Amino acid sequence: MLKCPNCNSKDIGKIGISQYYCWGCFIELTITKGIINTHQVEEDGTLSSLDDLFAEEERRYLS
Ligand SMILES: [Zn+2]
Repeated sequence: MLKCPNCNSKDIGKIGISQYYCWGCFIELTITKGIINTHQVEEDGTLSSLDDLFAEEERRYLS
């Protein structure tokens, strides 16, 4: 079960292939090679990476 590394919410919606949206903290999650990449959607619609905030250990996703 996918869990948001930012807010630990499990309320994750699927929005595309390997692409998810966290309804807890409103960030986008994409999964690449078992690692969760996190992106925040800015007001102008661009995505900024939040990956620096998390250790790789926290972003590992075991399906
Ligand atoms: Zn979240």
